[in-house]
Amino acid sequence: APGILAGKRGLVLGAANNRSIAWGIAKAARAAGAELAFTYQGESLEKRVRPLAEELNAAVVGHCDVTDESSIDAVFATVEKLWGRLDFVVHCVAFSDKDQLTGRYVETTAENFTNTLLISCYSFTAIAKRAEKLMTDGGSLLTLTYYGAEKWMPHYNVMGVAKAALEASVRYLAADLGQKNIRVNAISAGPIKTLAASGIGDFRYILKWNEYNAPLRRSVTIDEVGESAAFLLSPLSRGITGEILHVDAGYHIVGMKNPAAPDI
Ligand code: NAD
Repeated sequence: APGILAGKRGLVLGAANNRSIAWGIAKAARAAGAELAFTYQGESLEKRVRPLAEELNAAVVGHCDVTDESSIDAVFATVEKLWGRLDFVVHCVAFSDKDQLTGRYVETTAENFTNTLLISCYSFTAIAKRAEKLMTDGGSLLTLTYYGAEKWMPHYNVMGVAKAALEASVRYLAADLGQKNIRVNAISAGPIKTLAASGIGDFRYILKWNEYNAPLRRSVTIDEVGESAAFLLSPLSRGITGEILHVDAGYHIVGMKNPAAPDI
């Protein structure tokens, strides 16, 4: 839908490469008319993010590691200098120790629990707090979650706990910011092969299982997530806040294995 984000300015966090969900969302938002700014995490990703930003005529507003609040402040200061205000933020950030994205949840260490929740959940709140000040004409905040927040999934472990907390924070932030016409939503995406996903144990099996059992009998793409995101970022969704929208080929409605599915 060209034009639904015309005149809107948005900050995108979490692009790592051209397979990132953040990149799918950025492409769709740009195609819908938005002006964008990217952050990157560290120098090695800067090299990947700069050419992507260039492709979309987007600004690059600096390094952001969400464990370092001063880097978040620096990014928002740069955005304020660049635009003076902000219409939307896309948060595609998550991390957990790879060694604990396999096996049993009960083995999670306090240190990895804290770090996973800080990066994958609290960071969205830290960003919302800063975005609120720049969203003088209302706005839309969007984060990414996964079905492992709602149901047990193999190997997802502490990340499932973090996503459950993230989904709850979407509701609390929506209530806090609604009076300023700032909407807060999440997309619960089906499995997609990205850098972050490759850290999850048996990821290929999970992807295949979804393909065989989802109502649409396939997985979703970053472009499909991107176009649904463009809707949630745009005035077309102005009556929606606090929502978790599943963009997962329908997998979340399924109650049992498709008997016709082949063995994996
Ligand atoms: P990705 O690896 O492309 O993106 C993850 C991003 O998180 C990277 O850009 C990385 O730099 C950033 N990040 C990690 N730690 C950070 C920190 N301390 N500070 C700043 N940034 C940090 O993978 P993706 O799959 O596109 O992940 C984006 C979001 O989508 C994540 O929240 C993920 O949980 C979610 N998600 C992914 C899937 C999937 O199957 N790929 C499904 C549902 C939800």
